[in-house]
Order: sequence, then C-alpha cells, then structure tokens
Amino acid sequence: MATIKCIGILTSGGDAPGMNAAIRAVTRSAISHGFSVKGIMRGYKGLITNEIIEFRSQSVSNIIQLGGTILKTARCQEFTTPEGRRLAYDNMRAAGIDALVVIGGDGSLTGASIFAQEFDVPIIGLPGTIDRDLGGTDHTIGYDTALNTIMESVDKLRDTASSHERLFFVEVMGHTAGYLALNSALASGAEAAIIPEMETEVDQLAELINHGFRKSKNSAIVIVAENPETGGATGLAERVKKEFPQYDARVTILGHLQRGGSPTSRDRILASRMGNAAVEAILDGQRNVMIGIENGKLTYVPFSKAIKHRKAIDRDVLELVKILSI
Ligand code: ATP
Repeated sequence: MATIKCIGILTSGGDAPGMNAAIRAVTRSAISHGFSVKGIMRGYKGLITNEIIEFRSQSVSNIIQLGGTILKTARCQEFTTPEGRRLAYDNMRAAGIDALVVIGGDGSLTGASIFAQEFDVPIIGLPGTIDRDLGGTDHTIGYDTALNTIMESVDKLRDTASSHERLFFVEVMGHTAGYLALNSALASGAEAAIIPEMETEVDQLAELINHGFRKSKNSAIVIVAENPETGGATGLAERVKKEFPQYDARVTILGHLQRGGSPTSRDRILASRMGNAAVEAILDGQRNVMIGIENGKLTYVPFSKAIKHRKAIDRDVLELVKILSI
C-alpha cells in the first residue's frame, strides 16, 4: 500500500449535530500523528468541483459546540455516476489526498464503498446521522442530540395537549427507521409510538389511545415516524379523525429542527472518540470500514455490514411504551 501522507475529510448527506466535533477530532488526531489534512467542502460535490482546502489545527478551533458542519454538506447526484466519481478521484489525487474520512449516513457510506473499490482508495467512514440506521453500531453521531431535541419539544407540546385536552400526533424523522420515534416516545412518556417496522391498524391505535385517553387521561401524545408510504402523522391523524371524530386530534411535524442545535455531551464524546479512531484505523492499515461502537467499545465495521445490516427494533421498548402509558 502506498504511504499515506494526507487525509481528506468530508461530511455528506443530512447534517447531524456532532459532525463538527468529528471533523475536529479527525483533524487534530491526524496532525498529531504527522499527517497533513485537507477539508473537502460540500461532501462529494466538493471533490467534483474541486473545493478542497488546507486544514490546520486552528481550522477546527471553537467548533466542538456547533451543530451543522463547517465543511457544509450536500447530496450529489453526479457522484452516483462513474464519470462523476472519476472526476472526484482525479481532483483528490491532484490535491495530494491519499485517504478519505467520510462522515455521513447510509447513502454516503454506500458511495464511499463504491468509490473505494473502483479506485482502490483507502476510506474510513464515521456514522454521522440522526437516523441511527446503520448496522454494526449501537449509536451514530447526532442521534442523541436529535433524541433530546424531540424529547424537549414533546415536553412543550404536552402542556398545550393537556390544557386543551387534545390528542397530538407528533411526526419525527428517522428516514425508514423507527429508532428515533421509539426511543423519543419512551423518553417523553408518549402514549404510543408508530414505527415503520411495525404495521399499525387504525383500530389498534384507537384502542391504545382509548386505553388511557378515555379512562384516566385528558390528553395523549403519539409519536409517529416519518413514512411517505402511510403519510406519516398527517395520514394517520386523518384516518383516526375519520373513524373516531370524537377525538380533537392535532398534528405537529417537528421537521428539520431535529437536525439542529449544539451537540449533547454524549454526541461530542462519541464524535471525538470515533474521529480519533478513524485516524488510528488508517495507521493500522484498515480501509473501507466504518468506525462503530458496540457495548461501549469502538469497532471496525465493513461498509457492507454497516450499510445493509441495520439493527432490529427492540420490541421490548415498544411494549414498555405501552405498559408505562396506562
Ligand atoms: P442521511 O442519513 O442523513 O440521509 P445519507 O448519507 O444517507 O445521510 P444520502 O442523501 O442518502 O444521505 O447520500 C448522500 C450522498 O451519498 C448522495 O447525495 C450521493 O452523492 C452519495 N451516494 C448515495 N448513494 C450512492 C450510490 N449508490 N453511489 C454513489 N454515491 C452515492
């Protein structure tokens, strides 16, 4: 393997709180091991348009507390084509970059895997996504902050739900995964979580709500994972209202605010440890793996496992939401 002297960093796909902490950790860890570092702007797009900048230790000063990503991020259609990736490779080599650290979600790591195989480029991935929809890791950078944001928002909604004696359907992100919905439901004491991994019939839901709403409670919160197939919270609320007009049902879509904000200590620590591990992986001769964390220990997860083998939903948690909502 050719000697690696320069590491390029990029953030890709949806932004996630903690990406900056990861950029900082990769940069400083790489510099402390004698590598030079280059920041690539706007994800894969910046490789194609040649937006590559020299990074020094000070380039990442005062960013650990910031949400978003100082490198910006983008979704780049051109990178999904062989011609686009060829251009990206040529620019990367011309900039003297020998290895890449890619911080992003499922799609970004799919792109990384294809690029690595096509051009024999060493790439280390970091799981940067609020969705937690990657295999081989218990956590992803940004997930904890998003979970806390949802919890705080639901706490506020509960005040109005209870004052007006309403039923609230709160839609949260998660792409096609229900982790955010399930765990935010548990954390915020919601009456139910509707997740794409489990089919929910309207009468099932009504029974669930009836369970508490009619008997002992005057309001209810149902957390619904986004789901284009069923229409998410809006679709569900419409179906419930049609069949059970007695409910005063409202919908709140939390949307992009779930991505923002200063990362929690948990996300900063995770990002710092993973960023350092990415550089150690390069020193270790690893390539084409994502840094994961399982039972508190950092691991190397082959891209193929990270992308395809998402962790199963914990049905006990779903059951617990139900038990605790009586
Ligand atoms: P999030 O989890 O926040 O949605 P993501 O990384 O999954 O983040 P995507 O939009 O799916 O976000 O992917 C980001 C970028 O990765 C795409 O815009 C594209 O440039 C690249 N990418 C995704 N899939 C592929 C693919 N099959 N081949 C090449 N590049 C890809």
